[in-house]
Amino acid sequence: MGNFASDNVTGISPQIMAALATANEGTAMPYGDDAITQGLRDRVAAVFERDCAVFPVATGSAANALALATLVPRYGAVYCHREAHINVDECGAPEFFTGGAKLVALDGPRAKIDAAAVEAAIDGVGDVHRVQPAAVSITQASELGAVYKPEEVSALGELARRHRLALHMDGARFANALVTLGCAPADITWRAGVDVLTLGATKNGALAAEAVIFFDPAKAGAFEFLRKRGGHLFSKMRFVSAQLEAYLTDDHWLENGRHANALAKRLAEGLADLPGIELLNPVEANELFLALPDAVVEGLEARGFRFYSWGKVGEKQVRLVTAFNTRQEDVEAFIDAAVALTGAAVRASA
Ligand SMILES: *Cc1c(COP(=O)(O)O)cnc(C)c1O
Repeated sequence: MGNFASDNVTGISPQIMAALATANEGTAMPYGDDAITQGLRDRVAAVFERDCAVFPVATGSAANALALATLVPRYGAVYCHREAHINVDECGAPEFFTGGAKLVALDGPRAKIDAAAVEAAIDGVGDVHRVQPAAVSITQASELGAVYKPEEVSALGELARRHRLALHMDGARFANALVTLGCAPADITWRAGVDVLTLGATKNGALAAEAVIFFDPAKAGAFEFLRKRGGHLFSKMRFVSAQLEAYLTDDHWLENGRHANALAKRLAEGLADLPGIELLNPVEANELFLALPDAVVEGLEARGFRFYSWGKVGEKQVRLVTAFNTRQEDVEAFIDAAVALTGAAVRASA
C-alpha cells in the first residue's frame, strides 16, 4: 500500500534487473577492467557530451565523500547548505575522507544556496588560523525538492572559478531535476561550471549504484586511490557499472524521473486545496512537504500509508516522496483518504 517514505523504499527497475542478469553471464576482469565499465564510460561521454573520468560506487555518501576528498585539502572549507545531505546525513564521512576539511553551513530558501551567500562566507584566505576556501557543494534536486536552474548553477560556477573553488553537485535526484528543467545534462553541470557530479541511480531504479563523474579527467587526481582506501573499489565492478549503463540507456533514467515527478505533481494537486492542508513548497521534483492536522496524519497512518514526519518536533509536517514505480492507484488512494479525513476534521470542528 502507498509507501511515500522515500524513493529508496522501491525495488529495482526491470531494465536494470535485466542488465544485471546479462552481466551475470560468463566472466569478466575485476576492478573495473571489464567491457561493461568501459561501455559505461562511453555512455557517460555521450550523455554529457564530453569525455569524463567516471567512477562507480555503491552509495551516495561514498560518492560525495570521495569526490570532495579528491578536490579539497585537509585544511579546506566546503560551503554547503545547512540541510545538505553531506552536512546532516553522512555521519561525518566528508570530514573523515577529506582528512578533516570543514563544512561551512549556509542558509538559503528551500535548501538551496546562492553565489551571494557563498561570497559572503568566504573569509580568511591565506590566514594560517582559518580553513582555506576549497569547494562549494550543491544538491540537485535540493533536500527540500527544489531545483537549481542553469543560470543559478552558472552564477555559482563563476564565483567558484573566481575564488579557485571546486564546484561539487550531489545528484542523488539529478534525473528528477533534469526532467523538470528539460535542458541537456551538460547545461546543468560542466557548462555551468560543475567540476564533479555524484550521479545517483539507486533512488531512481538501481539496486545500489552511483557514479562519480569528473568532467575534467585531469581533476580526478587521487580518486582511484581514495576509493580503494575507502573500501569502494568493487572487485566485481561490472555489476555496479551494468546498473548505471542500463540507467543511462534509452532515456531510462529520464522516464523514471518523469514518472516520479508526475505523480508528485498529482499528489500536490489533489492535496493542496484541502481544508487544513498546506503545501509548504512548490513541487519541482519528486518530493512534497505538507503541513497537516494531527487527526489527518494519524488517520493516514492508520490506513497504512507510510511517510516521514519532517521539520521540527511538535509540528505536523510530513514529507511525501514519489518514485519511478509509484503506482497511480496508490496516489489516488492517498488523495481519497486525505479528502475523507480533512472533511471529517472540518465536520468535527463545526
Ligand atoms: C539519498 C541521498 C544521498 C545518498 O545516500 P546514501 O544513503 O549514502 O546512498 C545523497 N544525497 C542526497 C541529497 C540524498 O537524498
